[in-house]
Amino acid sequence: MRQSPEAGGRTPSSEINLAIHSPNWAGQMPANRSNNVSGEENHRGQTMRAAICQEFGQPFEITEVELAPPGPGEVRARVRAVAICHSDVIFADGGWGGDLPAVYGHEAAGVVTEVGAGVTDFVPGDHVVITLVRNCGTCMCCERNMRGSCETRFPLDARSPLCLPGGGAIKHGLKTAAFAEEVVVEQSQMVKIDADIGFDVASLLACGVITGYGAVTNTAALPPGRDVVVIGTGGVGLNAVQAAALTGSKRVIAVDLSADKLAAAKEFGATHVIDGATTDVVKAVRELTGGRGADYVFVTVGAVVAMKQSYAMLAPGGASVLVGMASADARSTFNPLALSDDSRRILGSKMGHCNIRTEIPQLIGLYRAGKLKLDELITARYGFDEINTAMDNVRAGVGLRNVIIFGEPQ
Ligand SMILES: [Zn+2]
Ligand SMILES: [Zn+2]
Repeated sequence: MRQSPEAGGRTPSSEINLAIHSPNWAGQMPANRSNNVSGEENHRGQTMRAAICQEFGQPFEITEVELAPPGPGEVRARVRAVAICHSDVIFADGGWGGDLPAVYGHEAAGVVTEVGAGVTDFVPGDHVVITLVRNCGTCMCCERNMRGSCETRFPLDARSPLCLPGGGAIKHGLKTAAFAEEVVVEQSQMVKIDADIGFDVASLLACGVITGYGAVTNTAALPPGRDVVVIGTGGVGLNAVQAAALTGSKRVIAVDLSADKLAAAKEFGATHVIDGATTDVVKAVRELTGGRGADYVFVTVGAVVAMKQSYAMLAPGGASVLVGMASADARSTFNPLALSDDSRRILGSKMGHCNIRTEIPQLIGLYRAGKLKLDELITARYGFDEINTAMDNVRAGVGLRNVIIFGEPQ
């Protein structure tokens, strides 16, 4: 696994290392542990179908695998809907490395089927949102509202619940492996929801919505009346747009390369849109803001060019909030004098710094009140057997969120 310079010491220059080697939800193994579930850790669980990545950049293979029963503190659920996130595509294409074969998928909703020892928050039949945010709630990161960086190691960090029928190891990708009919996850990765919420819209809350929305409300703690720019208005960025609009921003300026996504941004509350393919984005933002620049820029894509644009369009005291995950070898530069002289800031935002147990119910409340758009985020629904088509559409940037639906139509 690639390591960032920061793993061995500070990066001594103006270069920001945006590559946190691999996101910690890659499921790195502790030293001298391995993901190999063969041998004594082999298990004979229930058989189900999963979409396995055997080789980076190649289509998934849907095949029978074994899923271990939930251990203490763990829960098994039948997946009813799983949205495809760009992180799934980056992993499947090898951008963050990791072991193979693997099952990815981390933005899911389903029904609890079995609980492990000590689980009291869930019972079979509960409808749940299933996320990759495995967290203890009490470590230093959790206490500081950085549950996505939780420092506690769980049994599932060292032992994949998945294996091939012959006993070969399968990586529990993104700590969830929801491109499968069933999952076993740690109980902190689930949030109970009301049974009348559609599984398709509920799945979006597991990653795309909280990542975009939380970047605004938590990471930036955006005050009202500010000039906000959102670069990238797909399934994450539109949630930053609607959060900024709901906060009462002065202007919400959406930037994208796609006319369709800019049209969607207007529906989600953008006051202005900029086509980044044909426009000098930095100049356009300065013109729209009377020359001042933006108070907050949310970069929801992993492209380095967008990050550089964000630093250049900040008003004095403004903050660039990096939400999108770059590939592991990406590097970005900035002018340090502009930061110190104008008190500009660059903030990292992982998973919107959300406490899923409290904030997902709040978001559902906003959805019920008609203030949060979720249905409009779903561009297309696919059967499980169509997952490779759905992945290709995400790769091609088609649509906002593409969702795999299991079982009966919803
Ligand atoms: Zn995601
Ligand atoms: Zn923790």
